[in-house]
Amino acid sequence: MTKNSPSKVTMEKMVSLCKRRGFIFQSSEIYGGLGSCWDYGPLGIELKRNIKEAWWRSMVRNRDDVVGLDSAILMAPQVWVASGHAQGFTDPLVECRKCHLRYRADTVQDDKCPSCGGELTEPRQFNLMFKTFMGPVEDSASLVYLRPETAQGIFVNFQNVQVALRKKLPFGIAQIGKSFRNEITPGNFVFRTREFEQMEMEFFVKPGTDQQWFSYWVEQRLNWYQELGIKPQNIRLRPHGRDELAHYASCCSDVEYLFPMGWSELEGIADRGDFDLAQHAKHSGKSLEYFDEESGEHYIPHVIEPSAGVDRSALAFLLDSYDEEADKDGTRVVLRLHPALAPIKVAVLPLSRKEELAKVAREVHADLRNCFMTQYDDTQSIGRRYRRQDEVGTPFCVTVDFQSLEDHQATIRERDSMAQIRVPLAKLKQTLMTKLGGETFGTQQLWSSTAKDAGQTTSA
Ligand code: ATP
Repeated sequence: MTKNSPSKVTMEKMVSLCKRRGFIFQSSEIYGGLGSCWDYGPLGIELKRNIKEAWWRSMVRNRDDVVGLDSAILMAPQVWVASGHAQGFTDPLVECRKCHLRYRADTVQDDKCPSCGGELTEPRQFNLMFKTFMGPVEDSASLVYLRPETAQGIFVNFQNVQVALRKKLPFGIAQIGKSFRNEITPGNFVFRTREFEQMEMEFFVKPGTDQQWFSYWVEQRLNWYQELGIKPQNIRLRPHGRDELAHYASCCSDVEYLFPMGWSELEGIADRGDFDLAQHAKHSGKSLEYFDEESGEHYIPHVIEPSAGVDRSALAFLLDSYDEEADKDGTRVVLRLHPALAPIKVAVLPLSRKEELAKVAREVHADLRNCFMTQYDDTQSIGRRYRRQDEVGTPFCVTVDFQSLEDHQATIRERDSMAQIRVPLAKLKQTLMTKLGGETFGTQQLWSSTAKDAGQTTSA
């Protein structure tokens, strides 16, 4: 078996696979497409749900000190004044005087238009927040913004959550949701888009304990990607230099992935101090202090924020799992996705469409689909069906053949090794459950799909 190598995959190959196999489509494609917006197809949505589920499990469900939230996308406009976004959430924009294309100033070299070589305007600050109007009158009083990050919904609910759940420091609030940024230069597929999803957690701590919690979260977050299969050589931590730090942050590190266009940010982890809560206290006039029963002090908690993107994660998991290997029919393309992330866990493939076989296969399928995301496929040759499942990362195929009618067994074929084992139909569900890492598909339980676990291995 070949070792998975990132050099085998280009962004073009990935974009094509995603479209061909129903992961990701261009938004509004039949109208020529809408720039930098993408639609997740039947397999893409499963992948995204699995990523979010794995994040939620590790950040909320498996912990006592983090709770969840789902705040509204539209918020009071004052929120963005307090957070600094109304004034400061800008990128420097330059425009070509000749062809009028626009660029982010820091992405252009030599002060010339990358498209036509024309002269560029002086940079001006361009606010990345999308505006819209609330209610029937379109005037400045009804102006609201589509949130550019989910974090502010957490800060403004800090006290609601803390009081309602009687949380003591340190504790965190986690949220997954859509954010919108009118990026000047979107691109690289779903890496930089104008509508995207974030997974953010604000961890509130006692001032003075920031450093310890910052280090803790950096390690946790780096491990999370690796536990889900990202290869260590393709992921790294990049601490921000002093000159890069936002004015409120005392520490920030990016988790970076080696995308085809080079090392780029997957997630940012920052020590934001008391900036956000202090700003909201000042602008709302409400005290957001915490009473520390142990020390008898009142203070504004400090915040450690791990902020990740669902779409960038999806892209990284897809790229990292992509593999090609030579086989007798040419090239086998395999997505070696962690089973917790694989869109389809089990495919049920009857060897023929003959009714007596199809009946058993449908029964098997009906039984399995209660537990796993499954797919039933009875078109084309069995070899092609295996290849199709390999290409979308399905860890196991269950094949029902004529022998199954007599011995009441089916074949489980494993994606990575292509090893095949015969398993009694009555034990199929349990065997697959074990191989897929338990009922929860826990991210902690790494996938050990040794064919020896459940029966005898035949030749692949
Ligand atoms: P970048 O420097 O790449 O613009 P950022 O530092 O502005 O990113 P953050 O504000 O820290 O990003 O947002 C946290 C996470 O949200 C990012 O690490 C990324 O995964 C995701 N994200 C931010 N902007 C986008 C976008 N335009 N498209 C897709 N994901 C995004």
